[in-house]
Amino acid sequence: MLKQMIKPFQYKKMIQLNIEETQSEKQKSKNYFGTLKRIWYFLSSNKGLLFLVLLMVFLSSALGLLGPYLVGVAIDNYIVTRKMEGFIALLGSLGVIYVFYSLTIWFQNYWMIGIAQDTVYTMRMRLFQHLHKLPIPFFDKRQHGELMSRITNDIENVSSTLNSSVIQIFSSILTLIGTVAVMLWLSPLLTLLTLIIVPFMFFGMKWITKRTGPLFKEQQRNLGELNGFIEETISGQRIIKTFSQEKKVVAEFLEKGERLKAAGFWAQTYSGFIPKLMNVLNNLSFAIIAGIGGILALNGMISIGVIVIFVEYSRQFTRPLNDLANQFNTLLSAVAGAERVFEILDEEEEFKNESLLPELPRVKGEVEFKNVTFSYEEESKTVKNIDLHVYPGETAAFVGPTGAGKTTMINLLSRFYDVDSGSIFIDGYDLAKVKKESLRQHMGFVLQDSFMFQGTVRENIRYGRLAASDDEVVEAAKLANAHSFIVRLPDGYDTVLNQEGSGISQGQKQLLSIARAFLANPSILILDEATSSIDTVTELKIQAALQKLMKGRTSFVIAHRLNTIQNADRIFVLDEGRIIEEGNHDTLLKKKGFYYHLHGKASASGT
Ligand code: ADP
Repeated sequence: MLKQMIKPFQYKKMIQLNIEETQSEKQKSKNYFGTLKRIWYFLSSNKGLLFLVLLMVFLSSALGLLGPYLVGVAIDNYIVTRKMEGFIALLGSLGVIYVFYSLTIWFQNYWMIGIAQDTVYTMRMRLFQHLHKLPIPFFDKRQHGELMSRITNDIENVSSTLNSSVIQIFSSILTLIGTVAVMLWLSPLLTLLTLIIVPFMFFGMKWITKRTGPLFKEQQRNLGELNGFIEETISGQRIIKTFSQEKKVVAEFLEKGERLKAAGFWAQTYSGFIPKLMNVLNNLSFAIIAGIGGILALNGMISIGVIVIFVEYSRQFTRPLNDLANQFNTLLSAVAGAERVFEILDEEEEFKNESLLPELPRVKGEVEFKNVTFSYEEESKTVKNIDLHVYPGETAAFVGPTGAGKTTMINLLSRFYDVDSGSIFIDGYDLAKVKKESLRQHMGFVLQDSFMFQGTVRENIRYGRLAASDDEVVEAAKLANAHSFIVRLPDGYDTVLNQEGSGISQGQKQLLSIARAFLANPSILILDEATSSIDTVTELKIQAALQKLMKGRTSFVIAHRLNTIQNADRIFVLDEGRIIEEGNHDTLLKKKGFYYHLHGKASASGT
């Protein structure tokens, strides 16, 4: 649990992209239209380019209409009347038109890809930035891999849709309007006959998209779940192997995979109906134009050229409808992805509404809990009516059975979670009335599971205070008894560690995190004692380094082994969320209460 307590302020230098958040972006998206509006908000920062894209789309649609029209003209005016010169001139202009047509297509794609990449970059950055402003409860409640899936897959989905769909949709709409206008001008009767297929298309499409929409959403959700599961099993690989749970994990994966497969299968199957449906309707419209057009031409009501134009236009007319329907599907899946991204953006930031609160100045470290009550979930109270007072420089220890509320006390003190009632004071400042970030700047954490980031040993220590010089880093490592092992590493302080911190032992990682704490020089120290077995020499080094670190600071120790807290000034014995005993080791032993029995049990089991 405590391993998630990574100070948010430590991230602040990592990204300095200051992108303003506006009200319109914060609107809650409850429907597709709302989500589309929010995507538009991201797109609109590139209005100039977007205008150029639209201009190109407009030109390409117009040129696309002009081509078939000139073919019709060529048949009626030059082929039927056998005028060779005019025919060649018209072929020349057709060539020029198609060259320009290709150029407009090329430019609209080029610019649109730029816009799409830029939009997705902004979205990704903002999401990542926002993620680091969210409070710990947000992360505690969610599967980490699922969150990762939102930043990667869902955003990628938006990206690919923007790359292709926006142009398609605009050009389809323009082509549709243009085609119908020219067709009406040439022959209203044939136009009406061509439009007969539209209602069929409309209802067919509606039937299909009603099914595909939820399926695409389901597909994205299942993909997120699957990614979450993969992340969990990879990071928990050791535990899985230790307990021989490989078969169970694989079975669970298969089940999740099946669900993804089913959603994907039906989403693709239904959306696969669309081109088939279009094909049938296309052929139908072709037959109508050829049949009725032929009769009209025989009666001299229209020319052969008009029939050719109509055949070509009817295809041009159904293709955009087809494209629109196809793009609609892609759009639905992108909107589903965007919605999941916006959901995170809508999560309330941790430091919101804090701008008017004062900073907590450098404190001496007097900590007081007054009648504090808190629960993670509504129904049950996790800690109840806690009163405690710790004076500057003292060492306080929390002991008690697992689940008693020791970690929760620390969560409340560091305001990772907020009290339901009562107050916590540091040097007389009510924690609810100061900036959280300033509070955490005065606190240092040395946790059970020391988290290492990908980077050198030096960078990992400097995480405690980013502005520290190289000399200060070495000084801190010396104070933490870590210097001697660091210089023996292959590249000394420049040895690269990965996230798991592999290459160095658990105990050495602890020493590095103690060095971090020395560098941060906090007034209040939180120590989560290591439970894992560490060799005796390192253990002694850790103890000695911690003694040094605790000197002159108020320290809170979550004690798992009672023998290490015998020198604590104050021991708080917790059971079921209440402080049931308080005192130092000797007075508590004399009392012969809960602590006495805990101690007896611990001694008997040799811990
Ligand atoms: P300890 O550190 O003494 O073992 P904790 O403070 O972690 O105990 O937990 C106290 C109680 O709160 C336990 O019943 C635990 O299940 C519950 N709890 C801890 N963390 C959470 C959380 N993030 N959400 C809901 N319940 C929690």
